[in-house]
Amino acid sequence: LPQIVFAGKSNVGKSSTINRLLNRKNFARVGNEPGKTIHINFFRIDEKVYFVDLPGYGYAKVSKKERDRWGRLMDEYFASEDTMTLGFQIVDIRHKPTADDVTMANWFLQTGMPFAIIANKHDKIKKSQLEGSLQTIRETLHLPEEIPVIPFSAEKGTGRDEVLALILDHISNE
Ligand code: GDP
Repeated sequence: LPQIVFAGKSNVGKSSTINRLLNRKNFARVGNEPGKTIHINFFRIDEKVYFVDLPGYGYAKVSKKERDRWGRLMDEYFASEDTMTLGFQIVDIRHKPTADDVTMANWFLQTGMPFAIIANKHDKIKKSQLEGSLQTIRETLHLPEEIPVIPFSAEKGTGRDEVLALILDHISNE
């Protein structure tokens, strides 16, 4: 089955985004506590596709051991790139992406797989801030022009249709 991969810094709204795309309330768990054992969650949707929830990164307080474990999980998963179909990295539209975000974006870009940025929490900014925010994200992550940055709100549903269209497009191409 094709795999749609979701990555993002902890607390960026990754679980909420997955739930919004599926129109479920508690499919992916919202508000996961830092320090929990990290693992990759695979959600099989209608026997058609996997949503792959990569463990959040960028917790301030994690041990070196946990960080190393995270790195190994990512290495393993990204090494199996033939199974990946489409990647989404979720960032907070209000903030300049972090160094960890840049690393994660590079990881996706290096695989050469189709990839898009979900700029979440769009409901938290003013209209006048939108262009500047998208530009900051694009520049900080060094995104090639063809990579979409999609304004999104897991809370309000903004951008849902655009993300689903990308997903459906890639599922039907499999
Ligand atoms: P995760 O750690 O990345 O899975 O993040 P969660 O989905 O648990 O969300 C973290 C927090 O951000 C929760 O309090 C959510 O209610 C909140 N949140 C997520 N998406 C949005 C959004 O689009 N708008 C707003 N205002 N809050 C959001």
